Amino acid sequence: ATPVALLVGTGRGARLGILITGPDALEAAKGIDTIVLDKTGTLTTGRLAVSTVVAVGAEGASDANARDEVLRLAASLEAASQHPIARAIAAAVPIDRRTEVRDFRSRDGLGVEGTVAGTAVAVGRASFIESLDVDLDEETTRALAASAAEGRTAVVVAIGGRARGVVELSDTVRPDTPDAIAALRGLGLEPVMLTGDAEAVARRVAAELGITRVVSDVVPEGKVEEIRRLQGEGRSVAMVGDGVNDAAALAAADLGMAMGGGTDAAMHAADITLVRDGLTGAADAVALSRRTLGIIR
Ligand code: ADP
Ligand code: MG
Repeated sequence: ATPVALLVGTGRGARLGILITGPDALEAAKGIDTIVLDKTGTLTTGRLAVSTVVAVGAEGASDANARDEVLRLAASLEAASQHPIARAIAAAVPIDRRTEVRDFRSRDGLGVEGTVAGTAVAVGRASFIESLDVDLDEETTRALAASAAEGRTAVVVAIGGRARGVVELSDTVRPDTPDAIAALRGLGLEPVMLTGDAEAVARRVAAELGITRVVSDVVPEGKVEEIRRLQGEGRSVAMVGDGVNDAAALAAADLGMAMGGGTDAAMHAADITLVRDGLTGAADAVALSRRTLGIIR
């Protein structure tokens, strides 16, 4: 394509809420045949809310207090993280009830840890909590399974080296996601869901959207590996994501697209930022590049 055509395409994109970093992005978008989609914050709104708190090992009258304490310590820790799960947990406890945190560490795509009111606290996926040498007892495992059966994301709260709670979160598919997936398929792209969330939750959302290729339980480095694996099959791969943990995969993809409401890390790593809320812009971007570069398929 001529430089003028690319410039015109870039200008059209800007009016559609598709911010294109350079002419290479339009060229790359042209040949894409596979689109990898992050789940939380990309297919879903990422505006999660705490739906249930289970206090492990608490019974009767002390149970409500134990649940309050699990949530209070978890919220204090998560206040320092930007992850959608963290925002939801922090928002569930008023600021004046949260307590001070030392040695905060965020492990992208896994969870967070730190010292809260003098006690070691960690919040995250089951495998992350186990990696901290915390055993997941039967009650914890059962609570996680119950959430998964509902198709809901859940995280474990460890306090003082023991699993003390499970926090379940609800998320909703973005209203434009089903139409956007249909548009992507109409352009001949195969959608693949790629998520750090548990398989049962991923499957539930995928089934709702008619996505049959699902890769779940991945760590952030696993997202890059999956992109490379698909490229190794001879595919030309686009990736859409919002999180810090998506940044490396966005950079590795032939075309990286970041959700405008997502993290700065994702936007810096991507070739295109979708300013309008939702996935529709991803289909618009591919359609625009094909029009601009004169390809009709
Ligand atoms: P997705 O790929 O669907 O966007 P992520 O890779 O961001 O999901 O997160 C994967 C999993 O890691 C979450 O489902 C959760 O179990 C855990 N996790 C990540 N960040 C946090 C956090 N700040 N607090 C608790 N758990 C977290
Ligand atoms: Mg995400």
